[in-house]
Amino acid sequence: MRQSQLFTKARRETPKDEESRNAQLLIRAGFIHKEMAGVYAYLPLGLRVLEKIKAIVREEMNAVGGQELMMTTLQPKDIWEKTDRWDDSKVDNWFKTRLVSGAELGVGLTHEEPIVDAIGEYVSSYRDFPFSVYQIQNKFRNELRAKSGLLRGREFLMKDMYSFSRDQEQHEREYERIVEAYFRVYGRLGLGDITYRTHADGGIFTSRFSDEFQTLTEVGEDVIYLDESKGIAVNEEILTDENLEKLGLDRSALVPKKAVEVGNTFHLESKYTDALGVSFNDEKGENQSIVMGCYGIGISRLMGVIAELFADEKGLVWPGSVAPFRVHLLSLGADDLADETYRAFSEAGIEVLYDDRDLRAGEKFAESDLLGIPYRVVIGKRAAESGTAEVKRRTEDSAVDVPLSDLPSYLAQKA
Ligand code: ATP
Ligand code: MG
Repeated sequence: MRQSQLFTKARRETPKDEESRNAQLLIRAGFIHKEMAGVYAYLPLGLRVLEKIKAIVREEMNAVGGQELMMTTLQPKDIWEKTDRWDDSKVDNWFKTRLVSGAELGVGLTHEEPIVDAIGEYVSSYRDFPFSVYQIQNKFRNELRAKSGLLRGREFLMKDMYSFSRDQEQHEREYERIVEAYFRVYGRLGLGDITYRTHADGGIFTSRFSDEFQTLTEVGEDVIYLDESKGIAVNEEILTDENLEKLGLDRSALVPKKAVEVGNTFHLESKYTDALGVSFNDEKGENQSIVMGCYGIGISRLMGVIAELFADEKGLVWPGSVAPFRVHLLSLGADDLADETYRAFSEAGIEVLYDDRDLRAGEKFAESDLLGIPYRVVIGKRAAESGTAEVKRRTEDSAVDVPLSDLPSYLAQKA
């Protein structure tokens, strides 16, 4: 894409109404637009990042057999009454609204009830199991505080998956397969080494613990206690002697760390399926309960975490897997040669943002650093004479000279 055609422009000033580093940088770089606290629009560059995170999550959920669907944001009250969750004391942060007739509706903040209700029309036999469905969709939560940019939105993008199994054994297998897929997602996002499976509260219906996926960062709102040798953590919310004994963890081995929850998976047993009257017949024709699991990933929160964690004093630093473009091509007074290079990149299938604008070199460099695209390629007057271009990684200080004809293959090979 030619930058002269991109309507967003980098800003020098830090937005005054924004405390969090992720939102400050993303707004300055023109990736997001703040509508109000905790509510952000995604502009072209930001949307490219969000779509890449979505694509990784989608690939990994599909790889474990997840079937994608999309539920509705407007939710009827009656199905939530069947599980006794409509009451505000059971589910906090819920935006609710009304039809003109006065009938109350929920605005989607999670989807266990609607999903069970929908799949109930199709499942009837033990042969139907196991299966999982998921969606990637905006969720709405009336969060008390929304000062952390994309880390805590009132409208935010979540992937939520729901598994259905014929018995506990089948459920446990499905659950662990999905947990493994979660770690593949975090690994591909560059967060694998600092994201820990963390025992946490199981929710209102079960005595089992849930698993949170917590990424270590000073800006996290959660405190987890990490056993580094085991690579496992416990959320401080459940840090009691009784629980530690149950989990086989030794208090003296645990170190407190601040972290942000980037995913959460739950064992739901048969609480929702039973309450909504969804069951199946086994081989003998006997009616049996369905065992359910649910699995969330905070997609927009992950974008905020990546922006926040990898940024340096010059701006954003995107890992290659989610960068809006692979290469930022800068023309410094050598437009014909830069145009040719732009075409060569495009033909080689390299995603490139081409700064073809008439600006000072210093401005172009500063903006390039702020945007955080993994490779910067500079075509200046020298390039025409030497037949080489200056290539610099966003994470390195020095550039290397690469012959112009080698550029596409050089950039395509690099991780
Ligand atoms: P938190 O404890 O951070 O409020 P939660 O436990 O209420 O989150 P879940 O219902 O488990 O969240 O949602 C699944 C995932 O969605 C979370 O692990 C998190 O990554 C993400 N998420 C939850 N709330 C928000 C929010 N307000 N803004 C952005 N992402 C969120
Ligand atoms: Mg959670």
